[in-house]
Amino acid sequence: MTPRRKTRQIRLGNDRTGIVRIGGPPENQAQVAVQTMTAGYTYDVDGCVAEINKLAAAGADIVRVAVPERKDTEALVEILKQTSVPIVADVHFHYKRALEAVEAGVHKIRLNPGNISDRDQVNSVIDACKERNIPIRVGVNEGSIIERKDKQKRLAELGKYFAGHKSGHLLALMIAKLEEYMDIFEAKNFEDVCISAKSMDPSLTIDIYTEISKRFDYPLHLGVTHAGPKETGCIRSVVALGTLLANGIGDTIRISYASDPIYEVEDALEMLYCLGLRDRIGAELIACPTCGRIQVDLFTLVQEVRKKLKDDIQVPVKVAVMGCVVNGPGEAEGADVAVFAGDRRGIIYVQGERVANVPEDEILERLLHECREFQAKVRRGEAKLGQKKVEIIPPDPIGELGSGFEKIKTHKVEALTLGQT
Ligand code: SF4
Repeated sequence: MTPRRKTRQIRLGNDRTGIVRIGGPPENQAQVAVQTMTAGYTYDVDGCVAEINKLAAAGADIVRVAVPERKDTEALVEILKQTSVPIVADVHFHYKRALEAVEAGVHKIRLNPGNISDRDQVNSVIDACKERNIPIRVGVNEGSIIERKDKQKRLAELGKYFAGHKSGHLLALMIAKLEEYMDIFEAKNFEDVCISAKSMDPSLTIDIYTEISKRFDYPLHLGVTHAGPKETGCIRSVVALGTLLANGIGDTIRISYASDPIYEVEDALEMLYCLGLRDRIGAELIACPTCGRIQVDLFTLVQEVRKKLKDDIQVPVKVAVMGCVVNGPGEAEGADVAVFAGDRRGIIYVQGERVANVPEDEILERLLHECREFQAKVRRGEAKLGQKKVEIIPPDPIGELGSGFEKIKTHKVEALTLGQT
């Protein structure tokens, strides 16, 4: 991991929402903030409030809402009263929506240089934001950056930049657009700015952010735009954003899916936990992959454990669900609560101490019971997460778990599982 890049810092929010900081120098650097965007219509106040509060409860630090029409900015006044997370108004085409959102008290504005480019209009938004200390994200998008009127001319002009890069003209165009736009902000001495430059291509996303990180010291909002459904969008987003973050680039992120935005928040947090950029809240689950040695219906068990842990566990308990005794004990040693299975049974450990040996249909409940008990002990200060050095002594791998050597002899249990990894 490369240390995070030094940037300016922006702040958004108020006493009601708390202040969320983005970016900053190493001595005062904010944690990488997680953003998402509502899926419903902003003018539907009740629906929008419910969605924002759900996303905030899932861990979103900042929530963005679309304000395409006047009725959306009008709704903001009431929405802001009923929510407690900083809200960003996403403005396209109509600069007046930005002015109205500022007037309503929104905490940040997003402008798209691809569709609001009139200098006077941009200046009026800057003036309004300056007066109220509201930051602005300048967000270019591959999809709206191409100036369609003279596309061929622009491609020919810019093709010579980043020669050899398959999308060099796009890189050049996005950087040129940002530089041109930021001139307006700099002429106004307005530095309360965050920048994004999103593409639907993960490798281009990595290249564009790498290039703009060399040219600007504003904090960067990372995202892959139009990443698609969760199943593939997850890979697209994590490849691009994970690479950038590991290279020290990125101060706030949005993973974007054509799906319920709750998944965007959950996956963004999981990525930050995996990179060590955020302290985990809730359980960490490790489990076996597909493997010919699994001795219970492990995948169903893992999914059920995952769902229940999400609801019941709020401290970072490490939970291992292992399919057999071959590697189960070794892999479970770092876990606070572990189960490893054998012949339709499960042996459950809490920090190295064996607490149960139960049939398959009791594994889920007993494991969750032990997780809840362990969480309670941690909260009472009677146990420490991951601090006990444990060594799990595996049971007699066949006998104790009920298979019996007779089964090996009759080839009902594969003898090789005894010694192989
Ligand atoms: S060998 Fe056992 S512990 Fe390892 S992946 Fe297979 S089932 Fe899981």
